[in-house]
Amino acid sequence: MSQASAANPVAIDHGNHPLPSYLDASNLGPWGNYLQQVDRVIPHLGSLARWAETLKRPKRVLIVDVPIHMDDGTVAHFEGYRVQHNVSRGPGKGGVRFHQDVTLSEVMALSAWMSVKNAAVNVPYGGAKGGIRVDPKKLSRGELERMTRRYTSEIGIIIGPNKDIPAPDVNTNEQIMAWMMDTYSMNTGSTATGVVTGKPVDLGGSLGRREATGRGVYTVGCEAAAHIGLQIKGARIAVQGFGNVGGVAGKLFAEGGARIVAVQDHSGTIYQEAGLDVPALLQHVAEQGGVGGFSKAETMATDSFWDVDCDILIPAALEQQITAAKASRIKARMVIEGANGPTTPAADDILQSRNILVLPDVIANAGGVTVSYFEWVQDFSSFFWDEEEINARLVKIMKHAFAAVWDVSKDQKVSLRTATFIVACKRILHTRELRGLYP
Ligand code: NAD
Repeated sequence: MSQASAANPVAIDHGNHPLPSYLDASNLGPWGNYLQQVDRVIPHLGSLARWAETLKRPKRVLIVDVPIHMDDGTVAHFEGYRVQHNVSRGPGKGGVRFHQDVTLSEVMALSAWMSVKNAAVNVPYGGAKGGIRVDPKKLSRGELERMTRRYTSEIGIIIGPNKDIPAPDVNTNEQIMAWMMDTYSMNTGSTATGVVTGKPVDLGGSLGRREATGRGVYTVGCEAAAHIGLQIKGARIAVQGFGNVGGVAGKLFAEGGARIVAVQDHSGTIYQEAGLDVPALLQHVAEQGGVGGFSKAETMATDSFWDVDCDILIPAALEQQITAAKASRIKARMVIEGANGPTTPAADDILQSRNILVLPDVIANAGGVTVSYFEWVQDFSSFFWDEEEINARLVKIMKHAFAAVWDVSKDQKVSLRTATFIVACKRILHTRELRGLYP
């Protein structure tokens, strides 16, 4: 008779328990990419590898119908998701995305990357993510609010300040978080500021949260650049996606003396050999909704973006942008993943073989969730910190986490992505082992 204990659990036999079809590695979407990344880390997990199956299955997947009245009197139905990948280390945490291409595979992968990211920077959260399959640009403000509120009500059964805490992601912002917080509070009968992060500062949001992801990208970018002898001053940078993450990262690198030579977003691709006027470009994006039509730059063909001669490439838009074919063309010395999942595993291998350093999403864009953690802590204590303190704590955590990952990468001769997965997955699986299986 075998006896399990926390110190010596029975090895789990997966042979008779194949993954459900929507979870398996033949899934070519982002979830399939994530599973390949997990397979690469398993040989490095030592005895904790016996728990690795935990990483390959989301704990909880919720698909909801979101019906709303449209302004023209019709009723529209949208498909919404909330996935909690792992909550061993604490409540689920991760953003909500509104995009016409959102799929379950994508939300599952994003939730899993949140588990890894939160463990990599050692904040006390599991991983979660949500989304609605919708192009929000086609909705009026009233429709957007009704959709957000109905979605929040539908996922209200699994979110909460101690259960799962949403935040902004692509096409969601402080206003959306305010509506989510208000809806949850109305349904539960008391104001619960800690149910979401990335809220307006006047509603319990944190100073520095809006810039935090871009600031984290900049911080780890500078750390890595120093390791490989790359000067930020004068460095040529190309950025894909000029929203919350790409816009702030671009601004900080430009302030640090770099030249932002190319930017691409959904509205166009622009180029300026001398370096774009970033404050003017940010103003243009705020007014026009995209970089297209910016007068102080040349226009480029969309695909030529990947041939731009640069030192640093920052994908900060959507996942699966750097495919194997594009990886062979990239001229940068370093890729900093502001976006989640922008590089496919095949592309990762090509970049590595070409000696292009990849700072993976699970560490590079962890600044956002780090300040979300500060926001949640401030909400619980109803005591708010100044921006200087927040930025100093953020930079300290990012530098510390990056240094640990860098050391593992050198010691074990693995990519920074695998090194980050090693650090993070060991933390997740260690708590899995300590907590044991219920019942
Ligand atoms: P955002 O909505 O503010 O900006 C998205 C940007 O991507 C926009 O500039 C948009 O034009 C561009 N884009 C969309 N489709 C594109 C396409 N087909 N080609 C080129 N560009 C395209 O979103 P964000 O919050 O900046 O998120 C960007 C990425 O960063 C996402 O992968 C997100 O998951 C990730 N991320 C965001 C945060 C955060 O705090 N906001 C934290 C961690 C990771």
